[in-house]
Amino acid sequence: MFAVLDPATGEPFSETLDQQPYELDAVVARAHEAWRHWRTDPDARTAALLAAADAVEAAAVDLASLLTREQGKPLAESHHEVARTAARLRYFAKPPPPPQLIEDGRPVRSEIRWRSLGPVAAIVPWNFPLQLASAKFAPALAAGNTVVLKPSPHTPLATGLLGSVLSAALPEGVLTIVTGGELLGARLAAHPGIRHVTFTGSMPTGRAVARGAADSLARVTLELGGNDAAVLLDDVEVEKIADRLFWSAFRNCGQVCMAVKRVYAPARLYSDVVEALAQRAKDTVVGAGLDAGTQLGPVNNAPQLVRVEDCTSHALADGARAVAGGRRLDRPGYFFAPTILADVCADSPVVTEEQFGPVLPVLPYRDLDDALDAANDTRFGLGGSVWGTDLDRAEEAAGRLECGTAWINHHAELSLAQPFAGTKDSGVGVAGGPWGLHGNLRPFVVHRPQEERQEGPR
Ligand code: NAD
Repeated sequence: MFAVLDPATGEPFSETLDQQPYELDAVVARAHEAWRHWRTDPDARTAALLAAADAVEAAAVDLASLLTREQGKPLAESHHEVARTAARLRYFAKPPPPPQLIEDGRPVRSEIRWRSLGPVAAIVPWNFPLQLASAKFAPALAAGNTVVLKPSPHTPLATGLLGSVLSAALPEGVLTIVTGGELLGARLAAHPGIRHVTFTGSMPTGRAVARGAADSLARVTLELGGNDAAVLLDDVEVEKIADRLFWSAFRNCGQVCMAVKRVYAPARLYSDVVEALAQRAKDTVVGAGLDAGTQLGPVNNAPQLVRVEDCTSHALADGARAVAGGRRLDRPGYFFAPTILADVCADSPVVTEEQFGPVLPVLPYRDLDDALDAANDTRFGLGGSVWGTDLDRAEEAAGRLECGTAWINHHAELSLAQPFAGTKDSGVGVAGGPWGLHGNLRPFVVHRPQEERQEGPR
């Protein structure tokens, strides 16, 4: 067993199984056995996924409060995450793609019949345990695969409860949740019975997962880190966008892969932007996620808090100013004051790396080309945004961002139908919408000769 901590106190409040890598052999064998039936009946799958969505909604109160307890986010955000999990199950509860005719001439007729892959490994991090798990298992199950899901050891409980809730709707072995740490994850990624490894997490772990999956030549989908820039244009109305910009960086305590992690503001508006964001940081109610009125919870875990603290101290030592926050809060738990940093060096780790916490550097620029170059000068390529009044001009600038999704006057909003794919080191493969479904299917091609047409009498 291992302890699960409440990030609002730093104290253990529950525990869960520490499963050993060898246990995966039996789990994957059961997933393989379950796949033999699950893949055969698309109508039964659709019905099961709809029932699963209903079951999640019926258990929303318990799921959301457990999620907040182990993850730290405000209860309203947990409810949103649970609702999104149910919505995703419903989105994918539809018939599989029909056969696709490729050619129907002479001498050949060929068509694709989309087939499932087999057992899929889903490995997820601690920032959105349910939402990211469902982003993997809903399309995988809809495609006819079975799934072995491993949550982060920081947040295994709500996922375990989700598994119990879904067991009423899904046949045995179709979705199995295993709990453990790095060794269990490594074995799951490399297990010879797994045909697709879909992973969300950090870049170093993503590389390890890809190396592991190489042994079994399983398909790999990686959703990795981001260092998204928000570029403000000189016609932006600062007060009008400040709330949205602030929460695009600070939602879930900044622990969002596609949060705004750097802001580039025109020099003329720089002090207005810094002041507007700092005011919101100072006004934000920080507290335990279960407390009424809390807008920003704790950081999820101690190593992440140290990382946020290190990034901030490094920037301050290099001459940055903390216009709001800048330090841990003097209370139990993993609380860090919402922080706005001005006058930051462009090569400070808080600008070049993913801080993944409630800290936002704001950098001035004089020339838009320079700002876009700075936004793109990173190995990350998840998202980015441009903010301004003239939407055509904003869209033109957004089109120059090197990332998977570029928003205008928004950030980090994705519909279930949109593809989600990072470029550069931010990911491999595509999740979301029909592309997410196809990531879990393989083309099976049937190629047959056509009869030669009989020539009639001339
Ligand atoms: P992490 O990479 O440390 O862990 C993610 C998962 O991998 C956990 O379940 C962990 O137990 C498991 N794991 C650890 N070592 C493993 C190994 N060697 N082989 C297989 N599995 C292993 O990430 P984290 O700290 O939990 O999450 C934060 C990171 O996730 C950030 O970098 C963030 O940007 C990223 N993230 C990306 C997205 C996206 O969609 N692009 C979404 C959310 C989070």
